[in-house]
Amino acid sequence: MASVELRDIRKTYGALEVIHRLSLSIEDGEFIALVGPSGCGKSTLLRMIAGLEEITDGEVLIGGAVVNALTPRERNIAMVFQSYALYPHMTVAENMGFNLRLSGVAKPDIERRVGEAARMLALTELLDRKPSQLSGGQRQRVAMGRAIVRDPAVFLFDEPLSNLDAKLRVQMRTEIKTLHQKVGTTSVYVTHDQIEAMTLADRIIVLNGGNIEQIGTPLELYRKPSNVFVAGFIGSPAMNFLDAAVEAHDGAPAALLSDGTAIRLDPSRDLTRGQQVRLGIRPEHLLAGPDGAGSTLAGQTLVVEPTGAQTHVVFTVAGEPVTAVVDGAFPVRHGTRFEAAIAADQVHVFDRGSGLAL
Ligand code: ADP
Ligand code: MG
Repeated sequence: MASVELRDIRKTYGALEVIHRLSLSIEDGEFIALVGPSGCGKSTLLRMIAGLEEITDGEVLIGGAVVNALTPRERNIAMVFQSYALYPHMTVAENMGFNLRLSGVAKPDIERRVGEAARMLALTELLDRKPSQLSGGQRQRVAMGRAIVRDPAVFLFDEPLSNLDAKLRVQMRTEIKTLHQKVGTTSVYVTHDQIEAMTLADRIIVLNGGNIEQIGTPLELYRKPSNVFVAGFIGSPAMNFLDAAVEAHDGAPAALLSDGTAIRLDPSRDLTRGQQVRLGIRPEHLLAGPDGAGSTLAGQTLVVEPTGAQTHVVFTVAGEPVTAVVDGAFPVRHGTRFEAAIAADQVHVFDRGSGLAL
């Protein structure tokens, strides 16, 4: 196991800079999710840690030592990709042990390590099968087993579950988390899926356009997003945004929407009258019905989406669609008026120009 540190890392492809002087540090044993939209540089960053991609500028340290000049093998990392790339003519056991055999590990030792990994991943019964005789989830487990047997200092995952169907993805997510709790190996997990990042990681790094937007625990990012990008990226359904101007309302700070609706704001915020802001309201913080305490948002219901336990209601406020999550039993019909309350301390406020949280 080892810590991982990036110091002023830059990556250019010709004239195009895709990673801009990025620094971060990952503690020994931590599970880090690197999350961001497609093309933001996640794979590039992971591949630079792995030694599969040249580093234009800066230093990568693993276990406190600079590894820029080391080959992937010398870095003692193991990577799990979206495509499992198993050898079709080898059995599960042979696939899992292949790298160890290449490294000259003795046969009884290989058998012991493959056996242990197989037990951990519930693959013991499948050791003699060929990859073609396995389901997608089982193949992905073999790919993880192949990484585990090497007992690497760091696991690097690049969207390993993207090829699996939704149900299997959730199941494998749990297995990866369980596995990390058992072996405790430092892990960097790349995904574009914020729910995967939230559920798996000790800390999340949100990447956007080759820059870090924010680093924090899942709940820190959810509760205190430092800007509009993180606020809109973390959370499902996504946060609602409404443009407003800061005003005093009945002696308390409030924000006025374009249709005149006043939204009370937390008085502890440092706001000035007339300031142009963007309000952020999470769908799950809108309480349906006239009884909720707080400011009221009301409008015509555009779409009603039942999911079972909850229903997503999209309604119009100041000309903008706003989503609320209500109890699945709450009666609401398309085309009718919908009303929901929002408490002042649940309203996020961002500067409209910079996008930074206020
Ligand atoms: P992600 O994994 O977040 O989807 P990548 O790290 O694969 O993103 O890519 C980051 C950016 O670098 C993208 O804009 C991509 O087009 C660009 N890129 C990746 N590989 C190359 C390459 N070999 N040559 C030129 N541009 C590349
Ligand atoms: Mg990628």
